[in-house]
Amino acid sequence: MTRYAEPLLQCLIQPYEMPPLDSPPFLEISLVLPMLCLGACLGSFLGVVIYRLPMGHSPAAGRSACESCGAALQARDLVPVFSFLWLRGHCRHCRAPLRREVLAVELAAAAMGGVCAGWFAAPGPALCAALLGWGLLALGWIDAKHFWLPDVITLPLALAGLAVTAWFDRPDLLSHVITALAAYGLFRLINLLYKWLRHRDGLGQGDAKLMALAGAWLGWQSLPWVVLGAGLLGIAVAAAQRGKAISGGMVLPFGALLAPVIFMAFLMVFPG
Ligand SMILES: [Zn+2]
Repeated sequence: MTRYAEPLLQCLIQPYEMPPLDSPPFLEISLVLPMLCLGACLGSFLGVVIYRLPMGHSPAAGRSACESCGAALQARDLVPVFSFLWLRGHCRHCRAPLRREVLAVELAAAAMGGVCAGWFAAPGPALCAALLGWGLLALGWIDAKHFWLPDVITLPLALAGLAVTAWFDRPDLLSHVITALAAYGLFRLINLLYKWLRHRDGLGQGDAKLMALAGAWLGWQSLPWVVLGAGLLGIAVAAAQRGKAISGGMVLPFGALLAPVIFMAFLMVFPG
């Protein structure tokens, strides 16, 4: 995506000397389309994860069913995005409205796959970035709704970050391992100090583990910017909540603020 910007700009300045593009655009489209579809399908699964995990149910247990009448959903009801639109957001049997969250997660996951494919224009880095994005989407969504970052997602995703580093950037692996452990330790320490001063939790254990995940994927250089970005995003979100004064007692899901910033930081720093 970015590598087209310079040739196109040059074309505007010198219209008769259009430099050749690196690769035909159809090659990129041939990666974007499968990634969009993969994202939509995984988004369908993430929708189940986001709904079932906070209730203590396994996402893999049993078939999806209508929450209103209990009718088991058939294959034709489970086509990502299209089933929701075809049924106009209502159950086929009882016409009860379906959760719009399902469609929103599918669209977000599909968009994430497409963005990663367009950004990196290479299958390996695009899949790694999308894996991080899909995991963070689930974590951020659950944290925004329930103030909870499930270890069952955070910890395997942090290990995946080390695996990706070992694959693409092996000399930096040790540095990423140390960054992950140090980030976890530092955030636990900050919380202990905050608790000692204010007699309540400032950051949860889940936030510290998410910072370890960020360290595993990004390395130490990006972490101060990630914390700064999430802080600024938090101020913007707090300011947007009209009618509520910003105060020290205001509770924001820090994980939901960190998740999009970690994803964007990865797009910026990953050599791909
Ligand atoms: Zn129903």
